[in-house]
Amino acid sequence: MATPRIIVVGGGISGLAAAHRLVELSREKRLDLEVILLEAGRRLGGCIRTERIDDFLVEAGPDSFISEKPWALKLCERLGLTSRLISTNSARQSVFVVHRGGLVPLPEGFLLMAPTRLWPVIRTPLFSWRGKLRMALEPLLPRGRGEGDESLASFVRRRFGREVLERVAQPLIGGIYAADPENLSLATTMPRFLEMERSQRSVVLAMRREQKRRRSRPQSGARWSLFLSLAGGMQELVNAIAARLPAGAVRLDSPASSLAWNETTKSWTVTTNSGEKLEAQGVVVATPAYTAAKLVSMLAPELAQELDAISYASTATVSLAYRESDIPNNLAGFGLVAPAVESRKILACTFSSLKYAGRAPQGSVLLRAFIGGASQPYLYEQDDQQMEASVREELAMLLDIRVKPLFCRINRHPRSMPQYHVGHLERVRRIKTHLDKFPGLQLAGNAYRGVGTADCVHSGEDAADNVWKQIFAEEKE
Ligand SMILES: Cc1cc2nc3c(=O)[nH]c(=O)nc-3n(C[C@H](O)[C@H](O)[C@H](O)COP(=O)(O)OP(=O)(O)OC[C@H]3O[C@@H](n4cnc5c(N)ncnc54)[C@H](O)[C@@H]3O)c2cc1C
Repeated sequence: MATPRIIVVGGGISGLAAAHRLVELSREKRLDLEVILLEAGRRLGGCIRTERIDDFLVEAGPDSFISEKPWALKLCERLGLTSRLISTNSARQSVFVVHRGGLVPLPEGFLLMAPTRLWPVIRTPLFSWRGKLRMALEPLLPRGRGEGDESLASFVRRRFGREVLERVAQPLIGGIYAADPENLSLATTMPRFLEMERSQRSVVLAMRREQKRRRSRPQSGARWSLFLSLAGGMQELVNAIAARLPAGAVRLDSPASSLAWNETTKSWTVTTNSGEKLEAQGVVVATPAYTAAKLVSMLAPELAQELDAISYASTATVSLAYRESDIPNNLAGFGLVAPAVESRKILACTFSSLKYAGRAPQGSVLLRAFIGGASQPYLYEQDDQQMEASVREELAMLLDIRVKPLFCRINRHPRSMPQYHVGHLERVRRIKTHLDKFPGLQLAGNAYRGVGTADCVHSGEDAADNVWKQIFAEEKE
């Protein structure tokens, strides 16, 4: 019998994780499998790209992954990258919030939207007395009455008041998703907070109980910071996966253009832009949802419609390098976020070389600003010169940095951030129902159940496990 083949379409972290998992399964189960990974571009990694400029390490996309969600960390461990993992700099953990044109540290104990410590909230100038009193009422408030999905903005306003939404939740959570919290689905993005309200009524009390439980548990094993990176940047993860794939498995410059199912031979045909037709028993589509929609449009128009309805925002990162002596203020933190109510031209700025070691040579500083997203699409539309000028203007106002940078690198990510609008989980369920009609076809990527690198690894590995089960269960029949 011919060796079964599975094609993975898309060589971002989701597709790479899927291809790697398939290779792992084939080794573990000692079953022959040919894996082909089709990538439209000239390189692997999708949003992930690390560049060395002089002695600086510049991340084009993600600079880290979260360790609380285990999938990316576990993958790094399986790839032999444990000794390459780096934690965030423990001495400089604060994040600043732009407030009335100045910078105010996010009060200690503030977790995304929920204050867990009283004293820092009382002392901060970030909120008015009215705002602080409103926040203090949270433990007394009843549960929300709605059963269905709700926007993040509505939830935060309801539980903590408008100021927490505008000054903390919008820039922090909206920033992660490059989204407007008025549209963002609470059930998809922050299910933990929803669950806390449902099961324990007060989010603050639930978080305090959880913290107490954690403190009473004995600590064991290696302890990592909440966010992790790799000494040589996120590209190391991409390179390590690529090195584990069999020779010839990766085909760059090979965009898939359509997908067809042959009922008689029970096989898939993936057609590439060059007209090549590749037969396979299984396919994992790990492209953005709008591309997946095109691929399946002839095969499953309803599925295509659901996929196409997931909208995307574009973001750019602008990395600027400076001599430390040219930075007038002590940058004592990981970065700053700019609430929409402040009407700045950047969404946030990471102090990259303070957050992780090895990002800038001794005596230098690397900063990275974020532009665009769903709330400021017109700023993403600026040309490179205007974009650099906007960022430098903001750095002058907020950090008093007025000198020309040693270099400025702009990286654009067009239509890269899927928008999880209210009702997104229902849409994902409908997508799954459509997909179940097609054995051997799986979707993976940041469009469905999480945008973070760890979620993407999970989504790719899950898709690989499912397609494997479908194919090898059928092979035995
Ligand atoms: C600026 C930025 C900063 C971020 N920061 C963080 C962070 O710090 N931490 C974190 O956890 N997450 C972060 N994220 C989110 C995370 O990086 C992404 O969600 C994740 O990398 C997406 O991976 P993916 O494989 O699903 O999609 P992508 O990376 O978009 O990959 C999709 C791939 O499919 C290919 N493709 C498209 N069409 C075709 C076709 N027809 N045929 C073949 N191939 C095709 C594309 O070329 C691409 O390589 C960030 C994202 C951005 C944009």
